[in-house]
Amino acid sequence: MERSIAGTVTNSPEFEHELLDHDSIQQLEDEHGSSFYVLNVKKLRENYQKIDKAFRSRYANFIIGYSYKTNYLPYLCKELSKLGAYAEVVSRLEYDLALKIGEDPKRIIFNGPLKTIDDINYALTNKSILNIDSLYEIDFVKRFAARNPEVEVPIGLRVNFDISQNGFSALQEGYKYSRFGICVNNGNLEYALTELNKMENIRIVGLHGHFSTKDRSLESFKIITQNLCTLAKENIMNSLEYIDVGGGIYGELPKPYDMFVPTFDDYAETICGIMNKEFSDYHKKPLLILEPGVAMVANVFLFIAKVIESKKIRDDYFVLVDGSVHNVKPTMHKNNLPMKIVRRNHDGSKGKKVFNIVGYTCMEKDYLASEIKDRLPMKDDYIIFENVGAYTIVFNPPFIKERPGIVAMDNMEFTAARKKETLRQFFNDEIYVF
Ligand SMILES: *Cc1c(COP(=O)(O)O)cnc(C)c1O
Repeated sequence: MERSIAGTVTNSPEFEHELLDHDSIQQLEDEHGSSFYVLNVKKLRENYQKIDKAFRSRYANFIIGYSYKTNYLPYLCKELSKLGAYAEVVSRLEYDLALKIGEDPKRIIFNGPLKTIDDINYALTNKSILNIDSLYEIDFVKRFAARNPEVEVPIGLRVNFDISQNGFSALQEGYKYSRFGICVNNGNLEYALTELNKMENIRIVGLHGHFSTKDRSLESFKIITQNLCTLAKENIMNSLEYIDVGGGIYGELPKPYDMFVPTFDDYAETICGIMNKEFSDYHKKPLLILEPGVAMVANVFLFIAKVIESKKIRDDYFVLVDGSVHNVKPTMHKNNLPMKIVRRNHDGSKGKKVFNIVGYTCMEKDYLASEIKDRLPMKDDYIIFENVGAYTIVFNPPFIKERPGIVAMDNMEFTAARKKETLRQFFNDEIYVF
């Protein structure tokens, strides 16, 4: 079996999807079309259990809130819910999806910068965990509290503080400041606390601190957790119920990435270490919430695309597949994903070539992979792209072609988790005017 990453080929016996040979993929093609995703359900369970164990073994009062936006395939969300994950949502759409899959509203964590007064009323009525992100939400919460004086209204605050290290921003894209949450440094947190505390029945029960950092480092989590603990002790000690450190941890990377990343145990050691130290003499330790997205789902999706033709343009080889860069890396970053070529004919093309894998759209930049060095894939071969579970199907634009199906694989049993889209769903006549 061959696999390629960043232009190199390695033989790795630990390839997870070894069992998907040309015959079995062809069978799946008959039912699901010539390109589709595969959800590895076993791997998903494994991820959940590994993260949960790493943290819970060090800090018992712990929950996982799965970040829906990373991949809100209902089948996947439901599976995680069954395992015990709470739903972490950042819009009413995601909130309603969580309800639709049968999630207990008390197990929904409602975050995000945009919430209407109706969203907030709904979440509070349902007793969901609500973290407000901006000052405008305070008024909505107070109005709810005023209308329901006999009800205790628990509320969490997403806070914004400096997490730079030695003067360098740790944030993605190098932004100096995060735009999310309520600023601690300029007095806004104090203002929010004062305003909310004016109502007898509002209790500020939690602090939330999610930051998207470049390197997902332990150092960043140390700063985030420490700040949250200190702020909680200083400001809401009597009502504190939870510390939510957000998401942003690395998951397990597939083998060919030779990159050092912290393990789940490393993150747990860092975060739980601080929690245990800060709350060592507390009888009832606050709940610790982690909101993993990438770490839970990146490595549980494959994308399989059929080779339509390999063509030569002057000196360069282009392998056209029934897929698009939008299916595998919607952000169009330049790195090649770990991948595998499943050949129909094992002694087809001889000798290695350098080639690009390109998609069906009309964009010049529709490259699923660049400058791969391997035997040239031929018509009717399949390319398997690995590690495509995070920010793919949720970002996949309805551009030129219907979105592909998603097949759930559980111990080599296959079921459709999403059917291939058709014209009828693509141009839904409940919303389009014909
Ligand atoms: C996106 C997001 C997450 C998940 O982040 P990952 O980097 O995918 O782990 C968690 N919490 C919040 C509030 C988010 O916006």
